[in-house]
Amino acid sequence: YFITFEGGEGAGKTTILHSISNKLQELGYDVVTTREPGGIDIAEKIRDIILNPSHTEMDARTEALLYAAARRQHLVEKVLPALEENKVILCDRFIDSSLAYQGYARGLGVDEVFSINQFAIQDSMPHLTLFFNIEPKKGLARIAANKDREKNRLDLEQLKFHEDVYTAYQNLIERFPERIVNINADQSIETVEKDSLEKIVHFIEK
Ligand code: C5P
Ligand code: MG
Repeated sequence: YFITFEGGEGAGKTTILHSISNKLQELGYDVVTTREPGGIDIAEKIRDIILNPSHTEMDARTEALLYAAARRQHLVEKVLPALEENKVILCDRFIDSSLAYQGYARGLGVDEVFSINQFAIQDSMPHLTLFFNIEPKKGLARIAANKDREKNRLDLEQLKFHEDVYTAYQNLIERFPERIVNINADQSIETVEKDSLEKIVHFIEK
């Protein structure tokens, strides 16, 4: 199964992804964890280009194409082979991030960004997506409180932008109700973990 974790900044995606991976392994599943953009060498290099704060001149369409290119390579090199081996793949961000960030918040158009991503992934949509739902203000406050994370990139993007991202994700849940499940991420990490694990186990055992 190909399972993706989505949501805004400070929602807890990365932390929970790793703890869920451990729990699933204890339950006997063969798990692969990965992230986007990145997960493999070529895609991590593309990530460095996109997220380099000195690249202020990067055009929004160039950025969207680079995300799609990184996604393609990561899918082909890592996700599809793991699926072939019947592993459970937990991926931190995937296509919905592009639809929300580039399509909606950056204003390129959700349908247009969807079409370049369809070119990139062909039919490989995730089987299940967890949306970590937390108000942007609260998510950003969590990150501001965490001194380990570089804050500079967050200063680049204002609250309005993150509110647009949040709106976009809510629209995506309505568009893909079969695939995307809502997780209340504004709870203790243990509770969010428990809710997420329940949804995943229920999905893979049904
Ligand atoms: O998932 P992570 O927080 O590591 O993402 C790194 C950054 O890339 C985030 O700040 C997010 O805003 C940005 N991003 C984006 N569009 C995507 C994926 C990530 O703007 N499609
Ligand atoms: Mg993260």
